[in-house]
Amino acid sequence: MNLLLLTPEDCHEPGMARLDGRRLRHVLDVHRARAGETLRVGLLGGLMGEARIESLAPEAMLLQFTLDTPPPPKLPLTLLLSLPRPKMLKRIFQTVAAMGVERLVLMNSFRVEKSFWTSPWLEADAIRDQLLLGLEQSRDTVLPEIIIEPLFKPFVEDRLPALVRNTRALVAHPGAGQPCPVALNQPLTLAIGPEGGFIPYEVEKFVEAGFEPVHLGARILRVETAVTALTARLFA
Ligand code: SAM
Repeated sequence: MNLLLLTPEDCHEPGMARLDGRRLRHVLDVHRARAGETLRVGLLGGLMGEARIESLAPEAMLLQFTLDTPPPPKLPLTLLLSLPRPKMLKRIFQTVAAMGVERLVLMNSFRVEKSFWTSPWLEADAIRDQLLLGLEQSRDTVLPEIIIEPLFKPFVEDRLPALVRNTRALVAHPGAGQPCPVALNQPLTLAIGPEGGFIPYEVEKFVEAGFEPVHLGARILRVETAVTALTARLFA
């Protein structure tokens, strides 16, 4: 945790916060902080700054904080991701938040196992917990927008055109199209497939919607690695 994220509920009076639970344990066990020390803090959805530990006990910690620094800008990226297996999903939420992705759409595709849609990791509280870990890791305060699209065709035909508008759209598909461009640093929509890849029909639907197929060379990366590699390559 490189930033202690505060929520309005933690702040009982202006500039003062009381924390317990996971964040307190982290400060005690990992930071091994003491009363009087300073920690980096941020208000969820707001500014970042510093907090002085006024008191620290196993049950609760009192902080006096000042916020004066805006969080880093988000990447102008909408990531369309075929729903990954639950074990990977948890990590991907953290990665997406840590890398500063603005919007994540979890969509269905033919090679997504139906059972993945019933995963408890898709519940709102579970998603939020993982996103918060990613924000704390990278020192950001703003949650990415998460959209869940359990039906491929209605999503691609009815809602995707509005998402893609005013962005350059790419679909990552091994062996297809051009090598993925580098450092585009512009508003992008990027589609990444499931463990088994997109089927040809799905790639065709993306192309019809204005997506350019791109590849990363001969090596096939795991979904989790492809998310990081493609994002880092497109925004340098
Ligand atoms: N056997 C699958 C295939 O050939 O499409 C592999 C799928 S890969 C594990 C999962 C997703 O990561 C792919 O659908 C693609 O979006 C992305 N990906 C992984 N390696 C890639 C590469 N070398 N080029 C382009 N996309 C890649």
